[in-house]
Amino acid sequence: MTGKLSTEQFKRMDDIRANYETIRENIALAAEKTGRRPEDITFLAATKTVEPLYINYAVSLGLDAIGENRVQELLSKYDEYDLANTDLQFIGHLQTNKVRQIIGKVSMIQSVDSVKLAEEISRQSVKNGVLTNVLIEVNIGREENKSGVLKENIDELIEKIAAMPSVKVRGLMSVPPICEEKQEILKFFDDMYKLFIDISSKKLDNVCMDFLSMGMSDDYSYAILSGANMIRVGSGLFGARIYR
Ligand SMILES: *Cc1c(COP(=O)(O)O)cnc(C)c1O
Repeated sequence: MTGKLSTEQFKRMDDIRANYETIRENIALAAEKTGRRPEDITFLAATKTVEPLYINYAVSLGLDAIGENRVQELLSKYDEYDLANTDLQFIGHLQTNKVRQIIGKVSMIQSVDSVKLAEEISRQSVKNGVLTNVLIEVNIGREENKSGVLKENIDELIEKIAAMPSVKVRGLMSVPPICEEKQEILKFFDDMYKLFIDISSKKLDNVCMDFLSMGMSDDYSYAILSGANMIRVGSGLFGARIYR
């Protein structure tokens, strides 16, 4: 950080701190209700549109991980992230031809939904001498034009990735449909949890079902109650996004 902070910047940081504390309290409540400890839940901040000043402030409060959505944005901020104190992941839709640009920079890619994408992640990871963790993104609402694999195709995709070098499946991720009613979103979260448990119970070689990544600003408590152990919160932490 260089120079003095403006009043506006201080104010935003105060808001981020208050939001952070509230979210941590809610995580703890939901974790305890499901017989887990607060530290069993990974709190990832979705950082799209947020300047590194605020991202690093949130990191200083104790975020477990940060996640970017767009390759270009990640690269433009990359030198400024406080990566000594947090873990950088990729959570957005990823085009195969851009994989090369982020391998070695991110510890996990949460949005793998095709063999082709996984193959390129593997190829680039081998080339760079790194291991890249991936989550399988599931299109749990079966929405057209949405990324993610349909549930009947998950097994085959995981089996193929498990045989690839330098890439490791670490769990599942989902962005369920926007729901007006709480009951609707709960159904999608429950479906995801069932898939997660089913696949875990198969104990596949070279697959570690460590993470079930679901739940965003409006619904992360419900997601945890349904069994999520990683939440991705953006606007609820940093405030409403301003797209420039
Ligand atoms: C933006 C984003 C989030 C966070 O959304 P909020 O509603 O701002 O919390 C989570 N996951 C993904 C993949 C996102 O793109």
